[in-house]
Amino acid sequence: MSYVDEVLESVKKKNGHEPEFIQAVTEVLESIRVVVDANEEKYRKAALLERLVEPDRIITFRVPWTDDQGNVHVQRGYRVQFNNAIGPYKGGLRFHPSVYQGILKFLGFEQVFKNALTTLPIGGGKGGSDFDPHGKSDAEVMRFCQAFMTELYKYIGENVDVPAGDIGVGGREVGYLYGQYKRITGSYDSVLTGKGLTFGGSLIRTQATGYGLLYCADEILKLNGKTLEGKIAAVSGAGNVAIYATEKAQQLGAKVVTASDSTGWIYDPDGIDLAVLKDVKEVKRARLTEYKAQRPNAEYHEGKGVWSVKCDYAFPCATQNELTLEDAKMLVANGCQGVFEGANMPTTLDATKYLLENGVIFTPGKASNAGGVATSALEMSQNAERLSWSAEEVDSKLKGIMEGIAHAMSDAAEKYGAKGNYVVGANIAGFEKVAEAMLAQGVY
Ligand code: NDP
Repeated sequence: MSYVDEVLESVKKKNGHEPEFIQAVTEVLESIRVVVDANEEKYRKAALLERLVEPDRIITFRVPWTDDQGNVHVQRGYRVQFNNAIGPYKGGLRFHPSVYQGILKFLGFEQVFKNALTTLPIGGGKGGSDFDPHGKSDAEVMRFCQAFMTELYKYIGENVDVPAGDIGVGGREVGYLYGQYKRITGSYDSVLTGKGLTFGGSLIRTQATGYGLLYCADEILKLNGKTLEGKIAAVSGAGNVAIYATEKAQQLGAKVVTASDSTGWIYDPDGIDLAVLKDVKEVKRARLTEYKAQRPNAEYHEGKGVWSVKCDYAFPCATQNELTLEDAKMLVANGCQGVFEGANMPTTLDATKYLLENGVIFTPGKASNAGGVATSALEMSQNAERLSWSAEEVDSKLKGIMEGIAHAMSDAAEKYGAKGNYVVGANIAGFEKVAEAMLAQGVY
């Protein structure tokens, strides 16, 4: 049996109750098979793949918090420190009821390769809790964040592990988390990114993942002789990534006609009105029915359905496994020419395969959504030199990094005989860097 198959079999056996983690490992190991086969003896002797698929450590803790009525609730908190071969652990915190160890292991594993692709010195980690911020008051969210950080602070540090936001963790939550860290330690460390602009945050960090997605997509389209100008785009989600992906897509001349949240979705034939969407989601924290109320021409539908809309390009920006084989078939039938992942692993493995087989340009999230973590690393650099860069400076660095990622995955795919397959290209480019660093640092 080949080394890749042996390790895959063992991962499936040991992590049978964590399907998302198995899915992420399968995608990566299948993609890097050609490199592993060429170096089989060296990698096998060093147990490189076994070490790569096992997190350095997983920390789990109890998070008790008190609601506004005085009732105490208990949530489960996690930090998965996956791999620090190329820098301190770096990756977001997710607060969502679906969070369990398997989701965070998949996200932490993906983060290792994503962070390598940015070319910046950051390792991979992820954390979070099954806490649901929906419907909670600001005071409840604050008490939860304080309780969460009261445990987490023991395990993080600006040279150790630097968390950021993710689903359910935005500027408000990062602010409360940072306040508690500072209160406990008395130290103004750069221990979280995504901070507010008045206390060490970076300009453009809020926009970075969405903007970066479009910079990457635009570059890949150029490499394929295509453009966003005048095209119809379908975007899913209505959170941080989706909003700023929509903003940049519009700036680049595309018409975005959809948005979605956890209860329904919008089709706006006139193009999404971003001011209304921002007001509904960022200010009012309301449902998309509120968007429809302000835009009579738009349609609101319960459940999921964004991928049934005719579009030239699709940008899944909500959550994992939101684009299934059935959705991929609808997209292809409707003439979609490109799928660019803004969320982490939003496309199922069979859907990805179908899209690639049908000539759809496809970029994996670990490459095309790396702009968020890249700008987080730029926030760490600014904090370290006690300076704040201008929006133009950060944006131009972000653009350069995303264009670099587009070329790195394109070149790696071509080098290994898979021209145009950016899944293979991204995984190989990320893997080669991490593998070299791990081998150079001996057995650990
Ligand atoms: P947000 O919490 O800001 O937004 C998430 C959006 O997706 C919301 O509109 C939410 O609906 C919707 N959503 C969440 N879970 C589900 C679900 N199970 N079913 C349907 N809709 C859902 O998160 P982000 O925008 O930050 O993150 C979106 C994706 O991008 C995630 O996969 C994340 O890991 C990834 N990502 C984020 C980065 C960042 O910098 N923020 C960086 C790189 C990747 P509702 O409005 O109802 O809550």
